[in-house]
Amino acid sequence: MDYLFPDYYRKFHCAGGGCPLTCCGGWQISIDPASLDRYRKTKGPLGARLQNEIDWREGCFRQYGGKCALLSEEGLCDLYSEGGGRKAFCTACRDFPRHLEEFKGVREVSLSLSCPIAAGLILSEKPVRFLKKSTKKRERFPFPFDRRLYQKLSGRRDRMIRRLQDRSLPVRARIEGLFPALKVPQGITPPSPPEEEMFSALERLTPVCADWRPFLQKAKRVLKGLTCGERESFRAFWPDYKTEQLLIYFLWVYYCNAVYDKEPGEKLAFSLGCTYMIRALAMAEWAGGEANLLAPSRFSREIEHSDQNLLRLQALLSDQKKFGPEIFRAMLHTL
Ligand code: SF4
Repeated sequence: MDYLFPDYYRKFHCAGGGCPLTCCGGWQISIDPASLDRYRKTKGPLGARLQNEIDWREGCFRQYGGKCALLSEEGLCDLYSEGGGRKAFCTACRDFPRHLEEFKGVREVSLSLSCPIAAGLILSEKPVRFLKKSTKKRERFPFPFDRRLYQKLSGRRDRMIRRLQDRSLPVRARIEGLFPALKVPQGITPPSPPEEEMFSALERLTPVCADWRPFLQKAKRVLKGLTCGERESFRAFWPDYKTEQLLIYFLWVYYCNAVYDKEPGEKLAFSLGCTYMIRALAMAEWAGGEANLLAPSRFSREIEHSDQNLLRLQALLSDQKKFGPEIFRAMLHTL
């Protein structure tokens, strides 16, 4: 078995009580059946607490004031401190923010943008490198798998990443190199940012976190009032390398999944669309005076942690009637 992972993978450490956007609240934390069974059999004061603080019908931890019932005043997990550390966690809490994509003989591991500390590593200045570790482990792969197509896709992904990391060019020129059809011809008035289309797509999705809708509404209001000069000033807060790292993140996580649905074009549209949208939402946060730009993590929680939203946004971004080349050209022009 080969394991592929980004070089920052092992640098991740949870910020615990110091986290600016804790994963222990604001969304439903589903408990896997084996952990539910374990919690049901837990004895003593912790067992009694679990009986009360788990919604047994929904199979998730209860929340009070948007926080997990087991999160202490100090922002620490009582299940961890009273239950003997990580082994007390359910699968979702133990694995977060790690992400896994499975292929025959290959596991691609990454950190999810939905955790702000992981997002800081993903969007750091140093160009990401992907590492490989091989083990003798052999596993039966339960689905039909086109190995040649996977190799072709991963080779193509490597080449795209190499071109995106050529920092001798502005990031927009690098992306235009990958998608020449999206280049705005000289002498043509540049298209305006497709923010209306972005909000209309995002508003169609089912919210995962309680504060997503108000966040979108504020972003919409702020972006509407931004001047060209203010938009230009944002470049100092969002240098090219962030756009580069973001696009590479989405290509890395999603592109090779085309081995299952044979839709590589959809994965490219999704990667570019998400890169544009996150940058635009971060610009709204910045212009709205937020000290921490949490748009990458907020966006990821809504899209990457809901299969329904993920598939819906992938389909919307490859719908030529709603997101045709002129919209992508406008997205690219703002980067
Ligand atoms: S979001 Fe990340 S840093 Fe914050 S509490 Fe969760 S795992 Fe820790």
